[in-house]
Amino acid sequence: MTNEQLQRYVEQLSLDVFSLPFRHKAYFNPRLKTTGGRYFLGDHHLDFNKRYIDDMKVFRGIVIHELCHYHLHLAGMGHRHQDQDFKEWLERYDGLRYSPRRQEDEKKSYLYECEKCSTLYRRKRRMNTERYRCGRCRGKIFYKSS
Ligand SMILES: [Zn+2]
Ligand SMILES: [Zn+2]
Repeated sequence: MTNEQLQRYVEQLSLDVFSLPFRHKAYFNPRLKTTGGRYFLGDHHLDFNKRYIDDMKVFRGIVIHELCHYHLHLAGMGHRHQDQDFKEWLERYDGLRYSPRRQEDEKKSYLYECEKCSTLYRRKRRMNTERYRCGRCRGKIFYKSS
């Protein structure tokens, strides 16, 4: 999907779901990492994360979420996550509440093993094996795989 296709997709979805026109710009922003999309209060444009388009059902929910921010803000209604208007719209129009965590991110972890008792430890971050000992037997821990 190109930026032009994204633009048309957002415009069409806005009409289909909200019966309101989307009159600003939508872009793919390669710098978005875990967020699916973002609405900019200043110039009313939307940024989206291209990594979510492999599941169009999810992506649709993300676009609807951002369009809720957009339309509520332009209408002078509660457009922030904690606002009642926003919560109601999100539910009414079937927007995603949070960006789903991508499986890739979920799986990314580091596996360590105890030299002595072979207990496995899975950690989200790298750990300094010089500083940590096995919780079971106090044995030395080594890095196995990620
Ligand atoms: Zn949001
Ligand atoms: Zn051990």
